[in-house]
Amino acid sequence: MQTEKITIFNVYTGEIYNLLKSEMKNILEGEIPLLKRPKSNCNTCFGRGFAGYDSDKRAYCTCNRCVDKQLDTKYLKEIKYTCLVLRKKLSK
Ligand SMILES: [Zn+2]
Repeated sequence: MQTEKITIFNVYTGEIYNLLKSEMKNILEGEIPLLKRPKSNCNTCFGRGFAGYDSDKRAYCTCNRCVDKQLDTKYLKEIKYTCLVLRKKLSK
């Protein structure tokens, strides 16, 4: 499964894109791996993956209806932060 891709939500750019599994070791801070791409019928983010923008933190707030429930914890563990840790970091 060399070409298997992981969906990424970037909290700094608000973009959703795919990375190859083999690239996951180079994941950047703020790139959140997801099990599923946010759905366009989400009432909160409409598929954008974020519910708003925090100009103080300079980061998008992840959608708690879809993104937060679809975290790929396998890769979160590898990159040594959880969403909670990330949030604390961003809320400084
Ligand atoms: Zn959503």
